[in-house]
Amino acid sequence: MATVLITGANRGLGRELAHLYAAKGGEVIACCRDPGRRGEDILGDVRWLPLDLADEASILSFPALLGGAAIDILIHNAAIRGATGGITDVGFADFEQVMRINAAAPLILTRELRPNLMAGDARTVAMISSRAGSIAEGLDPDGDYAYRCSKAALNMAARKLAYDDPALTVLLLHPGWIKTDMGGPEAELDVADAARGLVRRIADAAPEDSGSFRTWSGERVAW
Ligand code: NDP
Repeated sequence: MATVLITGANRGLGRELAHLYAAKGGEVIACCRDPGRRGEDILGDVRWLPLDLADEASILSFPALLGGAAIDILIHNAAIRGATGGITDVGFADFEQVMRINAAAPLILTRELRPNLMAGDARTVAMISSRAGSIAEGLDPDGDYAYRCSKAALNMAARKLAYDDPALTVLLLHPGWIKTDMGGPEAELDVADAARGLVRRIADAAPEDSGSFRTWSGERVAW
């Protein structure tokens, strides 16, 4: 069974993905800012490691914690929403932090973990993006300027990586509007349904899917 590394595994979608892969018999490397505050343990083969995606030193020193272990599937799940209001809420510090965590960190972490991915079999990198970052489809009355821009930037980073590095299968996945802290209680989808769909998309992915942008249920999202 696969070794799966998941960022932001302590709550929300990341936690559900960790739970699903562990329940399927996978070896899960569950990352979060503070493993000491990860909440209830997830049953199965789960190893918790500290990783703060806002902190360059944390990212650059992270591969040493793995000691060359093979990773089959790398799931970039962690993200922040930042200022949610309209144009009057946009500020440099917030914008830069959202871009740092949501777009730059997944790209740089993938680079740092490439040797671990090459030591694995699936060589799959799943970037949890959002339809909110689709320039064609992502317009609705909510503000979320920094968040939308960060996901659009993540989409380009993943597509460029897929183009540059054919050894990897790089997927962009929209998880749906899900009931988590970020999605809120009014969201359409239960987190377990979204996670099951994403696990299926990742399992079914072929090398020719690299650079594609799909929803949890497999439908293509326009750029
Ligand atoms: P949550 O807000 O519920 O959870 C976010 C996770 O990211 C937490 O584990 C959080 O950890 C982690 N995180 C935040 N900042 C950092 C950091 N600096 N370093 C490491 N981890 C960090 O979000 P969801 O579970 O809803 O979202 C998961 C993914 O799905 C995200 O990429 C999101 O953009 C995407 N998405 C979600 C939608 C939704 O409706 N919920 C819709 C579309 C996309 P901590 O507890 O330490 O803050």
